[in-house]
Amino acid sequence: MTRDPDRPRSYTLAGSRQFAARPAPGLHVVATPIGNLSDISVRALETLAGADVIACEDTRMTHRLTDRYGIETALIPYHDHNGASMRPKILARLAAGEAVALVSDAGTPLISDPGYKLVVEAAEAGFKIHPIPGPSALLAALVAAGLPTDRFLFDGFLPPKDGQRRNRITELKPFPATLVLYETGPRLPESLADLADILGPRPAAVCRELTKAFEEVRRGDLSALAAHYAEAGAPKGEIVLVIGPPAEEAAEDDDVDAALTRALADHSLKDAVAAVTALTGRPKREVYARALALTRTDADG
Ligand code: SAM
Repeated sequence: MTRDPDRPRSYTLAGSRQFAARPAPGLHVVATPIGNLSDISVRALETLAGADVIACEDTRMTHRLTDRYGIETALIPYHDHNGASMRPKILARLAAGEAVALVSDAGTPLISDPGYKLVVEAAEAGFKIHPIPGPSALLAALVAAGLPTDRFLFDGFLPPKDGQRRNRITELKPFPATLVLYETGPRLPESLADLADILGPRPAAVCRELTKAFEEVRRGDLSALAAHYAEAGAPKGEIVLVIGPPAEEAAEDDDVDAALTRALADHSLKDAVAAVTALTGRPKREVYARALALTRTDADG
């Protein structure tokens, strides 16, 4: 399907028709709203309206967006089940110098959504990949959760099978970072029960239906959230789970003494105290007091 060259490329914003230039050749990875259709950037609209074709997961879903903005660009399906047969066709379009837009049903393509293999193959073949950033449920949830944002680990969906899910949670347990997970309503109660059991009393937030009419952020520690959904039952809608990092464990006194003994063997008292303070995270004056006690014991002995 090629575009009619005589038909102008355009989109409609706030009732006014805007003309869109044809974007540069290459694959344009375009983020789209996760619920509220107003959450789309002007650049995303220009790209979707100006592209030669839009590859999308589900043409009905993407039509809701293109219809809302009066975009007439042809849609072709690209999803997990037809990816192998569609990739050569999309690569042939790129080779012909076309601008191909890639979208998923919602949010940022490739993030727990199709597109990774297409980007790899297009990049390997030397085509330009243009990211058009925008909504993603993981970042929307992270900024609403009220949990540390300086270090976080996104791990997509937990495995649906009990044993695999518990193994995955055990693997995630030691990471000193906020965890961000995608979840479905029906699986939420079981996942929360396993998370509370394995991770212990960490603060968390269940972020549901973000940017939509029934948006909700429920905060609490994992066991309180698990108890709530065990009682209330599986919620409806789309969910991101955000879980605070493990509490920092202060090094035990014995660990501090062992580290000091090693450091004092070939460092001055001052340097040993500085090194062990940094290593253990214990207050400097405490480490200094322990170092003095150790050196006195040595001298006495
Ligand atoms: N690529 C998308 C993105 O960037 O957010 C995610 C796609 S993944 C197949 C769908 C999952 O994202 C849902 O099961 C849910 O965990 C999460 N999600 C998507 N939209 C959401 C919303 N409005 N509120 C909460 N979670 C959402």
